[in-house]
Amino acid sequence: MKLQLPPRISAAAFQRGLAAFERVVGAEWVLASDLDRDTYRDMYQPANETTHVPAAAVAPQSTEEVQALLRLANEHRIPLWPISRGKNLGYGGSAPRMSGSVILDLSRMRRILDVDVKHGYCLLEPGVGFFDLYQHLQDNRIPLWLSVPANAWGSVIGNALERGIGYTPYGENTAQLCGLEVALPSGELVRTGMGAMTNGRAGQLFRYGFGPSWDQLFVQSNFGVVTRAGMWLMPEPEATLGLGFALPEASDIIWALDILAELRLRRVIDTSVTMGNYLRTATMRGQRAEWYQGPGPIPTEIERQIMEKYGLGRWNFTINLFGYDAVNQANARIIRDAFAPHYRGEIRETHWQRGEPLAQSAANIPTVVFLQVVNWWGGRGGHMGFSPILPTDGKEAYTQFEATRQRYEEFGLDHFGGFTMGERYLTNVNQIIYNRDDADMTRRAHALFNALVDDAARAGYGEYRTHLSYMDKVAHSFDFNDHALLRLNETVKNALDPNGIVAPGKSGIWPRAYRGERA
Ligand code: ADP
Repeated sequence: MKLQLPPRISAAAFQRGLAAFERVVGAEWVLASDLDRDTYRDMYQPANETTHVPAAAVAPQSTEEVQALLRLANEHRIPLWPISRGKNLGYGGSAPRMSGSVILDLSRMRRILDVDVKHGYCLLEPGVGFFDLYQHLQDNRIPLWLSVPANAWGSVIGNALERGIGYTPYGENTAQLCGLEVALPSGELVRTGMGAMTNGRAGQLFRYGFGPSWDQLFVQSNFGVVTRAGMWLMPEPEATLGLGFALPEASDIIWALDILAELRLRRVIDTSVTMGNYLRTATMRGQRAEWYQGPGPIPTEIERQIMEKYGLGRWNFTINLFGYDAVNQANARIIRDAFAPHYRGEIRETHWQRGEPLAQSAANIPTVVFLQVVNWWGGRGGHMGFSPILPTDGKEAYTQFEATRQRYEEFGLDHFGGFTMGERYLTNVNQIIYNRDDADMTRRAHALFNALVDDAARAGYGEYRTHLSYMDKVAHSFDFNDHALLRLNETVKNALDPNGIVAPGKSGIWPRAYRGERA
C-alpha cells in the first residue's frame, strides 16, 4: 500500500513530526513501517480499496504523553485518530476516516484505576478491554457485572464512546459513562461533572455536574481524547430468569414488538431484548456453501431447511430478567400473560441463582464468537452494520424490515437483520456480510448500503452509528434547517481544535483545515 500523507504535509515535514513523537513515547512506539500501516487499516476493508489508510501510529502510555503528542500534532499539523483498542469492527476497526491520519493508539493505557463495589462503578483507562475487566472482577471476586457487546474484543470505554450495546439492564453502554477525563485538542486536560472539583467526591456518581454537562459531547465526536472514564457496573443480582421465544412468521414481529415495547416502557423488561432472524444463528454455525451455492440470495425453501435444522423460528429472542428471584418470577408471569393471546409456541425458561456457575446465568461473559459471521461466504470476509433507529412500533418495524429485505435481494445478498429494543426506540441492526476478495460482491455491498441510508432517511430514520465510509452521508441526512446541527458541531470543532488535528471527519464533523476532504 502506497504511503498516504496528511493533506498538504511534505514527506520531510511528516518525518520531523514522527521524530518529535518519538521523543515523547520512544522510537519503539512510533509505528510507521508498511506492516504497521497495514495492521491499523480496517480489517474488513474490501481488498481493492485504498481509503482510510493511516500514515503511521503512535502509542502513548500515559495521559501526560497524550497531552504532549497533541501539542506536537498542532505544531507539526499532523492529524491524530484516537482509538482505545481499535476493535470497532464493522464500522472501520482501527482505521481513520481521513487517509494520512496517524493512529493515536491508547491500548497501552490499560489500568483499572478504581472499582467501587458499594456504589457500583469502575474508573478505567481506554485500553482496558472487556476481557481484562471481566478477569479482574472474577480474580478479585468482585460482585459487579459487565454489559458486553456481541464482539467483546474491544475496549470498555471505546465501546461506550461509540454507543455500543450490551444485554443486561445496563446495556446502553454510553448511558453508563459518568465522569470523563479528556485531553482537549490543545493538550489541556479537563475532567467533567463532579470530577471537575480537584477533591470531587462524586465524580463517578452524579452524571451532570454544575452547568452544561459534557460527557456525551465526547461520544462519537472529535472534540477531545478521552484518557479515563467512569463506568457504572451492575451489582450482581440474586437470580436471573430467561424466557426464550421463537416466532414462526416474519410478520409476527408486528404484534411481538408491540408487546415487548409496552413491557419495556413499563420496565417489566429492563434489558435490550434482541430479536434476530435465522441467519444470525446460521452464520455462527457454518458456511453458506453447505446450504446453497446458486446465484442470488438464499431461496425461501433453503431458509426453511436451515431453520428446521437448528430448531429456529423466523425470529428468535430471549427475555432475560435480573434481580430478586421473587420479582423475576412475578415479572415472568406478567410477560407470559402478555404473550398468551398471540403466542402458541414453547417458551424455554432458564434459571440461575447466585452461587451457581456463571455460564448458566444471563450475565454477559465476554466472547468473540460473533466474529465467525465473516466466514459465511468463504474467502476473507467482512461485515458492515446498517443500523437505523425506529420507534418501538411493530407495524413500522415490519414495513422497514420488508423494505430492507427487498433491497438485499435486489443486490444479491442474504439479509441478516434484527431488532434491539430500547426503552422508546428500536435499533434495527442489519449486517451486510461479504467476501472482501470478491470485487463485485463488495461493490454491491457498498451500493446496498448507500441505498439503505437513502431509503431510511426518506422514511425518517437515521443511523445511530456508521462505518467510516458513510459518516458524511449519514451526517448529511440529519438535515433540519439546512443542516444546522452539522454547523453547530463544526463551530464547536473549530473553536476547540483550530488546526483540526483530532479525528478530522469523525461523524461527518470536518474542521476548517480539512474541509475539502468531505465526501
Ligand atoms: P473498541 O476497541 O471498543 O471497538 P475503538 O477503540 O475501536 O473501540 O473505538 C471506536 C471509536 O471510538 C474510534 O474509532 C474513535 O473514533 C472513538 N474513540 C475510541 N477511543 C477514544 C478515546 N479514548 N477518545 C476519543 N475517541 C475515542
